[in-house]
Amino acid sequence: MAIEKTRALVIRATPFGETSSVVSLYCREFGKLRALAKGAWRPKSGFDGGLDLLSISQVLVLRKSSGGLDLLTEASLESRFRVGTSLAAVLGGLRVAELLDALTADGDPQPELFEVAHATVRRLSGWDQDEAVIPTLIAGFELALLSLCGHAPVLDHCVECHGSLPQRSRTAFGMLDGGTLCDLCRRHRRGVVSVSAAALAAMRTLSRRDVDEGSGIPGNVAGEIRGIMNTSIAHLLGRPLRVPATLARGIRRQRRP
Ligand SMILES: [Zn+2]
Repeated sequence: MAIEKTRALVIRATPFGETSSVVSLYCREFGKLRALAKGAWRPKSGFDGGLDLLSISQVLVLRKSSGGLDLLTEASLESRFRVGTSLAAVLGGLRVAELLDALTADGDPQPELFEVAHATVRRLSGWDQDEAVIPTLIAGFELALLSLCGHAPVLDHCVECHGSLPQRSRTAFGMLDGGTLCDLCRRHRRGVVSVSAAALAAMRTLSRRDVDEGSGIPGNVAGEIRGIMNTSIAHLLGRPLRVPATLARGIRRQRRP
């Protein structure tokens, strides 16, 4: 057994016995891990808020070499998630946690993903501004996550034949295929939707992660992107996410193949 120190985002905490907790952490150095925090809920525990959901903490973990739960021996709170005036921001933070839990493998370190998640959660904490950009902020995180986990949607050529896309106001997007489709490949496929040029351009921009959460993206385009992300992620997981999809809006179905 080795004791190791890491910076971690608390993504889940489940009661264990009367005063202990099993916590899921997304760690900068180790990726996702689950650890037992003995006596976490005692009034004077040494964890002192460091295990609250969406907290960023410095933790000491006793790693088990032969399977079984790791043991969390210390958690020092670095920053707590503050509930501001926006329910959408809180749901957004919970969605980040659920996505990390659902889409990353145990013990697969991805420091870049930790940094993106950290930045997104910090941005949502104590939200007191216009809520309109929150769906796009979450979509930016989701696209980064999918990209870093090897599931980035193809947006600039046909996902099937790698051919170029027709220049039109709307492009076919195969939910089950994970990307845009040319006229030939879209035929006879299930789960194909029609995506506007504006939504496609915005998704490409968000995928590059070089913009400030796409604050210039209009609400209807953000809603279209939300529908695509919800369906794509549900397909990857084989189920919808648990965090209520209040961020979701409609997506126009493709009428004809
Ligand atoms: Zn094609």
